[in-house]
Amino acid sequence: MFIPNYAMTSDAPLLELTNVSKRFDAPEGAPAILVLEGISLRMQRGDSLAIIGPSGSGKSTLLHIIGTLDQPTAGEVMLNGQDLSRLDEKTLAAVRNRQIGFVFQFHYLLPQCTVLENVLVPTLAGQTVGAKTGVARSTSTEEKKNANANSVEAARQAQEKPYDRAVRLLKRVGLAERLAHHPGQLSGGERQRVAVVRALINEPQLLLADEPTGALDQSSAEQLAQLLIELNREEGVALVLVTHARDLARRMGRVLELKQGHLLPCGDTK
Ligand code: ADP
Ligand code: MG
Repeated sequence: MFIPNYAMTSDAPLLELTNVSKRFDAPEGAPAILVLEGISLRMQRGDSLAIIGPSGSGKSTLLHIIGTLDQPTAGEVMLNGQDLSRLDEKTLAAVRNRQIGFVFQFHYLLPQCTVLENVLVPTLAGQTVGAKTGVARSTSTEEKKNANANSVEAARQAQEKPYDRAVRLLKRVGLAERLAHHPGQLSGGERQRVAVVRALINEPQLLLADEPTGALDQSSAEQLAQLLIELNREEGVALVLVTHARDLARRMGRVLELKQGHLLPCGDTK
């Protein structure tokens, strides 16, 4: 069995939320909205989790907090044993760029860039931000080499240059013939696959996908969800998938439902 090397590098869970609450103040004296109420969640490296829940239940808010795009009103978010509330904005930007990948409902690809260029954009930011802030990746190339001598595949990936990784992953998701295409020349499903590869290019440990299949037809949606699951396993990246589709949610290791501010185990996914 292939055991991702970074599982051995740290005892702390990859992600740990403790009593996280989020309140949005309403304009003009209207009552504040308490969207999240005392949410606790723990994820280990390589886990997969689906979050379902009605529209407006706070799924995106929760994902934004996990992804350092927003902050909780109360509670604690730990990523790799680091308390995110204690990091300054520069360091947070580096964490976001290096440790977390995002996929949204809409692809946000740059229309003037090719598929390959789009995928490589985050690696440019990583060079400057990561270097300046000195953010340590918990799976450095050196660690990977040392900890994984028994895994040829992992060693190969650890030595991969961004360009090679981009080409390999684009081929992996079935886009070998589309490297020089522009987003406007792709189908919706293909564009989302490019967005997935872009999210994975910096070898994040956590992939956050907010209704990535929401704008796709059923067959493309199923294909994309299946791909996310496979990449979760192959790349060893933990996955949080927010989706309305219970059949897609069921394919994840765990399904939780966000309801009235609480995150509950979901028994009703059949
Ligand atoms: P979901 O993704 O589950 O559809 P959201 O997380 O987008 O839900 O929103 C949850 C609730 O929080 C909604 O009632 C929404 O109106 C409110 N909300 C989200 N963002 C803000 C904001 N920036 N300011 C005020 N209210 C917000
Ligand atoms: Mg949402």
